[in-house]
Amino acid sequence: IIPLVLSIFNDVMATRININGNINEEAFVSVFDHGFLFGDSIYEVINTKKNSPCFLDDHLQRLHRSADGIKLNIPFNDEWFKNQIARTLVEAANQESYIRIVVTRGIGDIDIDPSSCHSPCVLIIVTSARAYPLELYETGIHLALVNVKRNSKDALNPGIKTGNYLNNVLAKIEADHFGAHDALMLNPFGQLTESTTSNFFFVQDGRVMTPSLDCGILAGITRDIVIRIARENGIPLEEGIWPIEILDKADEMFLTGTVKHLIPVTRLDGKIIGDGKPGTITRSLMHFYERLLEELES
Ligand code: PLP
Repeated sequence: IIPLVLSIFNDVMATRININGNINEEAFVSVFDHGFLFGDSIYEVINTKKNSPCFLDDHLQRLHRSADGIKLNIPFNDEWFKNQIARTLVEAANQESYIRIVVTRGIGDIDIDPSSCHSPCVLIIVTSARAYPLELYETGIHLALVNVKRNSKDALNPGIKTGNYLNNVLAKIEADHFGAHDALMLNPFGQLTESTTSNFFFVQDGRVMTPSLDCGILAGITRDIVIRIARENGIPLEEGIWPIEILDKADEMFLTGTVKHLIPVTRLDGKIIGDGKPGTITRSLMHFYERLLEELES
């Protein structure tokens, strides 16, 4: 069950950057852009299949929700984004691509007040598809439960995909310090949330469980698809609010995200999960997800 993106070899690494509709090999953003100065920006990451964007409508919908969440007016509509993404993919001419849309508040005064920014900067970065090391899908990864808490929903709502990722950067640094691949974060109430760039799932007595959006997490596109796939295939699934202790009884764990797809977790804080191998339900869901991606091209 190897994610399709990982089966691409010898891809020529080409990067093209579309900045407000102009495509180049390099692009520069002003030091006065509030995206740079204050992390005042939003973004999306999109994968391709046969070099066509996967789940593009879902990503664009989330981009608009994020824009609303930070009161940012994006000057372009979905048709513009679809055309520009297609143009940029053609220019980069990779076999498969990683697409990152970034919309910043734009250039303004060196002052937190966004009212001096009159023109958002819209970037579409296209580069060769990125992949996680293959063996991690076979061995599973090690997560560290970190002390850094996920942002509270009423501080910087993790449901908004902003360019302000310092919370997650700090969690990743802490996980690295423990020698883990990534971090599992709790919210300020001690409830399970997510990892630094992925959603978190666990399995207990044949039931798939994942923190609900109310816990303060990103509404992951992959998370949504996995929830749908589980339900369609008769696998019981529950979204809920849980303290860390619930994981004492977890038989399996995995993460989801656009780039990594589904990746098994086989150690939490050094403790082996289940029998230390990717679990049966995790492997089935990985299989269903990869099959769904294959069907996208037909
Ligand atoms: N959670 C966080 C904090 C993320 O940054 C991401 C992706 O970047 C995800 C979850 C997974 O979301 P998606 O499945 O839409 O890629």
